[in-house]
Amino acid sequence: MTKEGRDKFLTEQRGECWHEWSDPYSNVCDKCNNITMDRENDDFSTWEGFGKLKEFMEVHPYWDKFVNWVLITYFIGNDVVTKMTLLFSKERFADICYKFLRENPH
Ligand SMILES: [Zn+2]
Repeated sequence: MTKEGRDKFLTEQRGECWHEWSDPYSNVCDKCNNITMDRENDDFSTWEGFGKLKEFMEVHPYWDKFVNWVLITYFIGNDVVTKMTLLFSKERFADICYKFLRENPH
């Protein structure tokens, strides 16, 4: 999984368009025709992206399943430092959401 592949998958899970531009001088997305001033897609490694992903996961129908899955998969048997690192890593949270949603399509 590349970072871009992960972010594209998570964007589409959120029901958003992973914008693409064939014209290097145009800000109009080939797929949705929306104009994006910065020609960028969501980056879930940023705090802004983390916030979007966290808000999405909290209202996801599998939120309770996700929390239990995280506890079982990543917390049991790990020390406090590992758990704290996991909780406060934007990159790690995006990776975990990606893995869970790939394994649990809805
Ligand atoms: Zn688009």
